[in-house]
Parts: sequence; C-alpha cells; structure tokens
Amino acid sequence: MPVEPMVSPVPSRLLPPLILFGLTLGLTLAGILARPIESLSLFWPVNAVLAGVLLRNPRQASPVGFALVYLAMVLADLACGSAWQPALWFNLCNLGAIATIWYLMARLPRLHRRLRTPHGTLCLFGACAAGAMVAATLACVMATPWFEESLRATWLAWFSEQFSTSVLVLPVLLTAPSPRALTRSGSDSQPIRLAPLLVLLGSLSLSIVFGGPGAIAFPIAALLWCALSYSAFLVSLLTLTAGSTLIVAVAQNLMHFSVPQSEPGVTTLMSARLGIAMLVLGPLVLACVSSANRSLMARLAHQATIDHLTGALSRSAFTRRANALLDDRQQHTPGLPLTLMMLDIDHFKAINDRHGHAVGDQVLRQFANTLQDHLHEGELFARLGGEEFVIVVPGLAPEQAKFTAERLRRAIQDLHATHAEQHLPITVSIGLAGCAANAPAPSLDLLLASADQALYRAKAQGRNRIEQAEAQRQVI
Ligand code: GH3
Ligand code: MG
Ligand code: MG
Repeated sequence: MPVEPMVSPVPSRLLPPLILFGLTLGLTLAGILARPIESLSLFWPVNAVLAGVLLRNPRQASPVGFALVYLAMVLADLACGSAWQPALWFNLCNLGAIATIWYLMARLPRLHRRLRTPHGTLCLFGACAAGAMVAATLACVMATPWFEESLRATWLAWFSEQFSTSVLVLPVLLTAPSPRALTRSGSDSQPIRLAPLLVLLGSLSLSIVFGGPGAIAFPIAALLWCALSYSAFLVSLLTLTAGSTLIVAVAQNLMHFSVPQSEPGVTTLMSARLGIAMLVLGPLVLACVSSANRSLMARLAHQATIDHLTGALSRSAFTRRANALLDDRQQHTPGLPLTLMMLDIDHFKAINDRHGHAVGDQVLRQFANTLQDHLHEGELFARLGGEEFVIVVPGLAPEQAKFTAERLRRAIQDLHATHAEQHLPITVSIGLAGCAANAPAPSLDLLLASADQALYRAKAQGRNRIEQAEAQRQVI
C-alpha cells in the first residue's frame, strides 16, 4: 500500500515567496516608522536591501516575486495611513529602482555579482546610478502632484538619496558570507586587527570636529587601510557606517559647510551624498582586489602544504615542520623523547593492477583517514610519496612506540577498504626510529634513513609487521 506523504501546513514551495512578502512588509513598515526620526528619514534603504535579497535568491526574482514585493510595499504604506494613489505611484518608483538594479546585476557572472572582482564593484556603481535615475525619473513623471519642490529639486533629491544609499547598502548584502561559508570558516577564523578600525573611528570624528567641505574625505586613508586588512564584507559594513555617519553629519550641519545654492536645502546635501558615494568606491574596489588576493594566497599555501588526495601534509611541509619540531625540542625540551614511524602499504601495486588507479586512490584516502583518526594534537602526519606515509609523535619514547604502531597496524588490517561494495583487504608495514628521553636529537635525515631501513626489514620479513631501527632494538 502506498504511504501517504506528510502534509505540512504550508507547502514548501510557497514558503520562500511568503518570506519575501513578509520581509518586504516588515522592511517597508520599519522604514516608514523610522521617518519621524530625523537622521533616519534621510535614508530609504528598503529598495537596496530588496535588490540585494533578490540578487542573492535568484529563484525569487520572478514576475510573481516582484509583484509580491510591490504588493507588500503598497500594503505597508496603506497600513501607515497613506492614501491609495500616492501609495501606488511612490511604490512604483521604488519597484523601478529595485528592478533596474536587479536586471543589470543579475546579468553579470557570479564572481562579479558577488563583488569578488573590481569590475563587479564598478558595475554595481553603474547599476545603482541607473536604479536611482529610474526612481527619480518615475517620481518626477508620476508623483509630481505630491511634491512641493520643483521638478529639478525632486529629481536631484531622489537621485542623490537612492544612489548614495544603494552604493552604501548593497555591497553589504552582496558580499555577506552564506551560512555554509560561515560554518566552514568558523574553525580557522583569525583574530581581527583593531588598529585600522580605530583609525577609521578617529578620522570620522576628526571630519565632524574639523568640518568644511574637505572633511568628508578625511576617512579615505583609514578606509583604504581597512580595505587592505579586512574581508570585503567587513569593509562594506564599514563603508556603510562611515558613509551614513557623514551624510547625517552634513544634513545636521555638523560639518559647517554649504555649497552655493540655486535651490536652497537641496544642493549641499545632494553634493555631499554624491561625493560620499564616490568616496567609498575606492575602498570597496581595493577590498575586492585584496580579498581575492588573500584567498588566492591561502589556496596556494594550502596546496603547497596539504596533499590533495589524502589530506596529509605534503613532503615539503612535513620537512619544514619536523625540522622546526626537532629544533624546538633541542632548545626548549631537550629531554623529551620522540618517535618517527614510516608506513608503507603492502602490495599496493596489486590493487592498482587489479582494480585500476582510481580505486587505488580511494584506498589511499581510506588508509589516510584511518590513520588520521588515531592521531592527536601536535603529531605530524605526512605523505612522503606514493603509498608511503610518515608519522612523528613527540613525547612518545621508542620503548612504547611499538604498542602505538601495533594499534595502527591493526586498525589498517581491520579497515575493510571497500569499492563498489567489494572488500579490498590491505595491510601496512611500519619502520620505527626515534630518540629516547634525554638522548641527543638526531637529525631528521638520520631519523628518516633509520626508519626506512627498519621498514625495509619489515617488508623483507614478510610484511604486515613492525620493525625498529637498529639502535632501538638494543634499547628494548
Ligand atoms: P610493497 O609491499 O613492497 O610496498 O609493494 P607495493 O606494490 O606496495 O610497492 P611498489 O613500490 O612496488 O608500488 C607502489 C605503487 O603505488 C606503484 C604506483 O603505481 C602506486 N602509486 C603511487 N602513487 C599513487 C597514487 O597517487 N595513486 C595510486 N592509485 N597509486 C599510486
Ligand atoms: Mg608498498
Ligand atoms: Mg612504497
């Protein structure tokens, strides 16, 4: 009898459009309710936020999605006491800005769209300018009856507000890390350098204290330093903070400057807004270049350090770290014992010959994973080449090493490597070398050569066994 599927209260395909509708409603209500607060009424960030949300969730950017956005904005306006006509017209201007930015940015390749390239950031500036032009023009054409100012003043006010707000807000949404990227980077996140941030705060304060038209450029050096130091997302947050602080300061006349005005009350703020929007372009472009550079360097360093097939250390990284470990022992813990194990899979060539290279690769991965499960913090595990691996265990005396090696040998014997449900038994031979407590540390080359000789004996004596270097056989 067929099993009836469970019916949830809201079908899952309806959930994303409902979330988009609710988000638009909430954002628009918050925007309208914040208007009486003088400094917040300077910004209408709803359009930029929604354009960003649609760019990050392409499936929602359908005709239905845009219709829902429009409906939610109109309903929010009506709920706050607007009349029908202005609610319909004004929100058409807002929708025009959202759709224009989305249309222009959605065409770009993903790397540009997520501002991982300077080209993407320049395109974003173009898209924001186009979105602001569309909104301002629609406002002049359709909503004139509700404005007291001249057409020119209306156009300039809409354009400068929409352009500067989009340029400040959109980079935050486009560069925000996805939840998956956040959990991935959680374990290796680095402490944040505070100096660039403090200098930015200092220069912003100076702008306001000093005042005058040149003062809006004071934070540029600090923003450039931030761009070289932080991720593109953090720089976007900082440019948003710095830019909006400066706009509020100009609007409140805290910076004591005014531009000769042909139309009072419009030109100074408009000029400052456009200047501030242009000012953040440099740091944003630099942040993209420098973030891309940093992640490339990190990828290269990772590739040089880690063997891509097994996840073990590469030979060169192992040599560096093992030498550093021996130097450290010499200087700080001269009495500490140490063991080096060389491991080689038995008759591995036969697996390749019988099942193919790809299956051999899979066995190598399973072999390395099994060993890694038995390692502890501070131990080194590397692939020297082919099916030959090495483990260095600081603090493990050669006398006890045989027990540890025996555990590894048995773990590999019990591994039951599989391919396509086929059982592929493998065994490993292990050669041991090391230095006892309070003994002088041998060089890495000598340790490797001794372990290699021991391994050779293990192979010669039948494989799937452990042999110790000559000097240690006398110790036990
Ligand atoms: P022994 O017990 O004496 O160690 O025999 P063996 O067959 O394991 O040793 P041998 O040195 O003759 O063969 C090692 C094989 O490992 C030969 C090579 O084709 C294979 N090999 C080396 N690197 C890789 C790799 O990255 N992937 C795969 N699948 N095979 C590799
Ligand atoms: Mg082998
Ligand atoms: Mg070998």
